[in-house]
Amino acid sequence: EAYISAIEAANDKLNAYVKVTPEKALQMAEASDGRLASGKGGALEGIPLGIKDLFATEGIHTQACSHILDGFKPHYESTVTQNLWDDGAVMLGKLNMDEFAMGSSNETSYYGAVINPWRSAGSNQQLVPGGSSGGSAAAVAAHLCAGATATDTGGSIRQPAAFTGTVGIKPTYGRCSRWGTVAFASSLDQAGPIARDVRDAAILLKSMASVDPKDTTSVDLPVPDYEAALGQSLKGMKIGIPNEYRVDGMPEEIETLWQQGIAWLKDAGAEIVNISLPHTKYALPAYYIVAPAEASSNLARYDGVRYGLRVDGKDIVDMYEKTRAAGFGKEVKRRIMIGTYVLSAGYYDAYYIKAQKVRTLIKRDFELAFNAGVDAILTPATPSSAFGVADENLASDPVKMYLNDIFTVTVNMAGLPGIAVPAGLDHGGLPLGLQLIGKPFDEETLFKTAHVIE
Ligand code: GLN
Repeated sequence: EAYISAIEAANDKLNAYVKVTPEKALQMAEASDGRLASGKGGALEGIPLGIKDLFATEGIHTQACSHILDGFKPHYESTVTQNLWDDGAVMLGKLNMDEFAMGSSNETSYYGAVINPWRSAGSNQQLVPGGSSGGSAAAVAAHLCAGATATDTGGSIRQPAAFTGTVGIKPTYGRCSRWGTVAFASSLDQAGPIARDVRDAAILLKSMASVDPKDTTSVDLPVPDYEAALGQSLKGMKIGIPNEYRVDGMPEEIETLWQQGIAWLKDAGAEIVNISLPHTKYALPAYYIVAPAEASSNLARYDGVRYGLRVDGKDIVDMYEKTRAAGFGKEVKRRIMIGTYVLSAGYYDAYYIKAQKVRTLIKRDFELAFNAGVDAILTPATPSSAFGVADENLASDPVKMYLNDIFTVTVNMAGLPGIAVPAGLDHGGLPLGLQLIGKPFDEETLFKTAHVIE
């Protein structure tokens, strides 16, 4: 009830929720009370969560914040949310996001921008919470849920976490089932939590992760008790610092934060080593070929027949065209066009195949570092703190917006786990985050190391 009141009081301003489900929440909470009373409570019994609008929730609004999915209410539940309910969690509602998870500011949502609860000192300017999981990050930061589900294809968990002073982890590709999560770029998409601290993130990921026969890319490995990793010593650990993440134009305060992070880990007993990830500079261009290519294929299913919106036309092709023209926003159309172009005959080898080869080289950079004994890699999470809503500079130049993902996309391209953890404030008092990148399926090391930084 306290969370429902908090949402009622703040959501008009923040626009973090696109659908609030108070009756469902109270019903689930009551069932939790019953289970707790009979001593049968699960790990998340009674914990109120917000769910990103990308996760299918049975009978409840699921639109990926796109007009084209108007009115879509799935008759099934995503595996990740089902896992949470099975552990006793309570659903407060569906959270705002960039349309189909395409964006870094939550401004591409059909439901409008989400407002970051943080403000720069002495300024009234509204800031973005980052994207695409902007609703998840803002809701957690503003106490409108105890934790939230999110997804990360190129940074969409970690960048919004960094912009809102929250913790976000993108687990290894295959750790969480993608079944029932609206697909953006299937070889990159992973679900993960955004939470108020590392411990909450560890508890939530434990519940969300599972092997699932309905997603053949989910991996059959035991899910460790991540919480048990917190507080373990960093003695004997090697932390890699990649030189290539010192990008042009990065504000000095980000470099200072990074140095501070290095000092903290050293104090905790870790050894710091310089490493090289030489293909880093190709990650962003390669990502913006691979991700739109997969998106253009995934989004072909929205045809006015199977889901949501239909705009009638004089024949079936006309109906397809009118539906897609009306249903998709500008950024989604841009991605479909880029993706269709790079997959078309004549360009496939030059762009798509080339980008896949680059992807292999990026992956290999990380393998070499880990094979040389590095346990985790420390980088900044984002090249800046949260920027203003409707920033003219960014709105007119999508490529500048894409630069936001510069530290995060490599992790998705290599399928590795990455965590963003709040590490300090900028000159204006806005949160800044550091990122830790780990070996495949070694989320434990990320939790234990991030716990030292937070
Ligand atoms: N900002 C990136 C993009 O727009 C990443 C999005 C994501 O991780 N879903 O593609």
